[in-house]
Amino acid sequence: MPPIVQLEGIHKVYQTGDVQVHAVREVSLKVEPGEFVAIMGASGSGKSTLMNITGCLDQPTRGRYRIDGVDVSQLTRDELAEIRNSKVGFVFQGFNLLARTSARENVELPMLYAHPQIHRREQRARVARALELVGLSDRADHLPNQLSGGQQQRVAIARALVMQPALILADEPTGNLDTRTSIEVMGAFRRLNDEGITIIMVTHELDIARYTKRNIIMRDGRIQTDRLVGARLDPVAQLAHLRVEQESAELV
Ligand code: ADP
Ligand code: MG
Repeated sequence: MPPIVQLEGIHKVYQTGDVQVHAVREVSLKVEPGEFVAIMGASGSGKSTLMNITGCLDQPTRGRYRIDGVDVSQLTRDELAEIRNSKVGFVFQGFNLLARTSARENVELPMLYAHPQIHRREQRARVARALELVGLSDRADHLPNQLSGGQQQRVAIARALVMQPALILADEPTGNLDTRTSIEVMGAFRRLNDEGITIIMVTHELDIARYTKRNIIMRDGRIQTDRLVGARLDPVAQLAHLRVEQESAELV
């Protein structure tokens, strides 16, 4: 299998007036199928720019990028959009769910515009499977405002899954959530990854990065450190631990 992500000498310059910003500088990075990567670094270090290029939302100024074996460096905007729709699922900080639309319908949405069309029966099966993976089978008919923040983010994760992407990209997916809810969301990512789905997420929280398998720290547009997580945290165990702490606090 080819690497899911293969960046070679990726450089991105933004031109604003006569000022040039080198947002990403000569980054080379390989992510293999089944990896679970956290990208960290100070604000302005180039994390989002790198994620946008990785997600085929933007093209680098120079360098070569292959996603799942396909060289996207020279593609037109339309070709890039097509690759993006078939290969990448996105999860954002702000959930981006449609308000008057059930969890099930939100998850269905990406399939409505799919080419080639996805058969109705297949759509239903994929929605059921995705909601099951994020632990929300019993909430399929709820509207977003009937769900907690963590549940809403898990609907967004299910939505990112239904096109069966090679890669899930998440930019600060726990940025708006409290600790317990963040761990719950990391639990959903963990289950996806255990199923073999490759995940790259941006986070500025060191605690959250410890639920992944590999941590990359960016600085001034470059990769400063890149290492495997030694003692990976298990969301299920952490949630149980929090529950015990809370119960003993209630006893005193
Ligand atoms: P991070 O996500 O780590 O905070 P970004 O990738 O958003 O960093 O930004 C990296 C650098 O590029 C910053 O200096 C930022 O101001 C600049 N930048 C990002 N997007 C643009 C843009 N569209 N136009 C001009 N400069 C940008
Ligand atoms: Mg950012």
